[in-house]
Amino acid sequence: MKRQKKQDIKRFYKKSIIPAILLFLMFLVICVYFVFALLFFFEQYIIDQKVTAIYDEAEYWGNIITADVKEGDILSRVNSLEKYLGEENDICITDESNNILKSLKGTVPNFDSLRDTHYMLYPDVNNKNEGEILNEYLSFRRMWSQLKEVLAGEDVNDKDWLSQTIISDFYWVEIPVELDGYHLYYKTPLILVKRDILFILSVSAEVMIPLMVPVILLMINVVSSVRMQRRMIKLLYMDSVTGGKNWLYFIQQGKRILAKRRITGNFYEVVNLHMNRYQEYCLCYGNEAGEVLLTDIDTFLQKQIGKQEVFARFSKADFGLLLQADSVEQCEKRLEKLLTDLTAIQEGRTIAFQAGLYQIDLKALKKENKKHLKMQLDIERFFHYANAARLTIHEKEGQFIKLFDEQILQEQMWKHKVEDTMEAALHNHEFQMYLQPKYNPVSNKLVGAEALVRWISPTEGMIPPGRFIPIFEENGFITRLDDYMIAAVAKFQAERKKQGKKPIIISVNVSRANFTKDNLSSHICQLIDKYGAEHSGIELEVTESAFFGDKRILQKILSELKGYGFRLSMDDFGAGYSSLNSLKELPVDVLKLDMEFFRGKDTEKRGEIVVKEAIRLAKNLDMEVVAEGIEKKEQVEFLAANECDMIQGYYFAKPMPVEEFDERAERDA
Ligand code: C2E
Ligand code: MG
Ligand code: MG
Repeated sequence: MKRQKKQDIKRFYKKSIIPAILLFLMFLVICVYFVFALLFFFEQYIIDQKVTAIYDEAEYWGNIITADVKEGDILSRVNSLEKYLGEENDICITDESNNILKSLKGTVPNFDSLRDTHYMLYPDVNNKNEGEILNEYLSFRRMWSQLKEVLAGEDVNDKDWLSQTIISDFYWVEIPVELDGYHLYYKTPLILVKRDILFILSVSAEVMIPLMVPVILLMINVVSSVRMQRRMIKLLYMDSVTGGKNWLYFIQQGKRILAKRRITGNFYEVVNLHMNRYQEYCLCYGNEAGEVLLTDIDTFLQKQIGKQEVFARFSKADFGLLLQADSVEQCEKRLEKLLTDLTAIQEGRTIAFQAGLYQIDLKALKKENKKHLKMQLDIERFFHYANAARLTIHEKEGQFIKLFDEQILQEQMWKHKVEDTMEAALHNHEFQMYLQPKYNPVSNKLVGAEALVRWISPTEGMIPPGRFIPIFEENGFITRLDDYMIAAVAKFQAERKKQGKKPIIISVNVSRANFTKDNLSSHICQLIDKYGAEHSGIELEVTESAFFGDKRILQKILSELKGYGFRLSMDDFGAGYSSLNSLKELPVDVLKLDMEFFRGKDTEKRGEIVVKEAIRLAKNLDMEVVAEGIEKKEQVEFLAANECDMIQGYYFAKPMPVEEFDERAERDA
C-alpha cells in the first residue's frame, strides 16, 4: 500500500508536473527568441527601406555628376553642385588612393572605420562625439515613455509626434561614377522616427499575440497542476482519522531526519505508543468518540514533538514516534511523563497507554554503512521491533514501557518459525507422545502416567513443550495438538488392551482453549471411541487457570465428560490464583499439586504445612492427590507420610518414549 503510494507520487511527477514545467520553459524560451527575432526582422526591414532610400539619393547625385562630365573637369562640376546640396549633405572627391581632393562642406569620411559592413555605409564619426551617441540612446528611452503616454490615451495618429526623430546617424555612401580614378562620396543622414519604432512594435505584437495565447493557457495549466499536486501531497500525507500526518509521512520524514549529516546526539528512539483496550473504548462510547480521542492524542503529541522528531498514527490506536534522546533512561523518563499526561486528556474517562521502544545507535549505523545509510534506515522495521518489545509488556506487573533487545527478536523469529512449520510437523508426525510414570510413594508401584508431547524436529532436534505450547495456545493450534495427543493416548490404551496388558490410567492435557467449544465432550468422546479405548483408563488434565473462565460452561462440559466415564484432574493446582471454591463446585477426581510447592528452601516448613493441608482438603472432597516435580527422596517420604496418592517426578522417572514406558510398566506396575 505504502509502496504503491510512493510509486503514485513518482508517476505523478514524471507524468504531469515535470513535463509541463519543461514544456512551459521551452515554450517561453522559444517565445522570447521569437519576439527578438521578430523585432530584429522588422527593424532590419525598416533599416533596409531607409538604406535603399539613401542609395537612391546617392545614385541621383552620382547621375548628375557623371552626366556631361568630361575627363579632368570633375572638380568644377562638383563645385557647381554645392548650392543644390541640402544642409545635412556633403560630397567628397578622392583620388585613386582615397586621398581627399575636395569636400564641399568640409566634412570628410573616415575610411578606416568601415563600420557598417552589411550596407557598405561609412559612418560619419567625425561629426559625432561619444556624448551625442549617448544622447541618442537617452532620446530613445524618452521615446518609450512618450509611447506609453500615447498608448494610454493620447492620439496615436498625432503626426507631429510620430515624425519626431529618434535616431539620426550620418553616413557616407560611395556614389557610382563612370570616371576612373576618382571616388565620390555622398554624406546623408539615416533617420529613424517614432513612427518606425511604433511600426516595428505593432507588427511584432500582432504576430505575437496569437502566439502568447497558448503560452498563457499553458501557464494556467502549470499553475493549476502545481496547486493540485500540493493538494495531492497534503492528502497523501494526511491521516484520514486524526487529520494529522500519516504513516507514509512518518517513514519518509523519519528517514530524512536520520539521514541528516549534522544531527545532534547519537541516539534516536523509535517508539510504538499503544492505547490499551481501544476496541472496548469504542464499544462503550461509540466509534465517533473513539476517533475524537485519536484526534486529541494526535493534537497532544504535536505539542510534545520537537523539530527534529516526527510522529504519526500507525493503525487503530497505535502511534509511531521518532524521538531524540541521549540515552534510553532519558527517553524512558520522557515517555513516562508523556504516557501519564496522555491518560489525563479525556476527562472522566479512564484510558491507559503502553510503549515499546527501539534504540537507534546512529553513530554505529553511520560508521557501518557510510554509502547506503538511507537503505539501512528502515524505520518501519525499527517500529516493528518497538512493537515486538511492547507486546512483551506484562500489564499485570505494572510495567508499561519496554525496550527492545536481541532476545525479543530471537523469540519473534522462533515464533514465526514455529508457526510456519507446525502444520507440516503435525502432518509428518513430528509430534510424539512421551509418557511420564506416576508412582505410589508407599508401594513404589507404577500406577499411572501422563502423556506429554515432544516435538522431534528434523532440523531442530527435540523441542521441549515450553518452547512451542505457549505459541500454540496463542494462535489456537493447541486444540489441534490436543486432539492429536488425545487420539495418541486412545490408540496406545486400545493397543495395550488388545495385548492384554495391565490397565494403567494415562492422563492427557486438555488446554483451556478447548473450553470455548460447546461440543467439546462429544468431540473428545468421538476421538477416543474411534480406537475403542476404555473411557475409565483415560484422565483429562485441565489446568487450574481454565477454572477462571465461564464457570457454567466449564461445569457443563466437565459434567458431560464425567458422564462419559472419563477421569478428570485439576493440573498445576497452586501455580496461579487458586480458587478453592472451584474444587467444591467442579466434578474433579484428581488434584495435581504444582511443582512450585516443592521448590524453595526458606519456606520449606511453611510449604510443608500448605501441602499437608491441600492433601487433607482434597481427601475430604474425595479426590486423589498427585504431587508433581518430585526430585528428592525426602520429598517422597514426606508425601508418603501425608497420604499423597501418586508422585510424578524425576525421582521416579522422566517422561520417556512409549516403548521404554511399556518395558517399565512390565517391571514396576
Ligand atoms: P504439565 O502438564 O504440568 O506437565 C508436567 C511437566 O513437569 C512436564 O514438563 C514434566 O516433564 C515436568 N516434570 C515432571 N517431573 C518433574 C521434575 O521432577 N522436575 C522437573 N523440573 N520437571 C518435572 P513438560 O513435558 O516440559 O511439559 C510442560 C508443560 O507443557 C506441561 O505441564 C503442560 O502444561 C504442557 N504440555 C505438555 N504436553 C502437552 C500436550 O500434549 N498438550 C497440552 N495442552 N499441553 C502439554
Ligand atoms: Mg499436565
Ligand atoms: Mg502440571
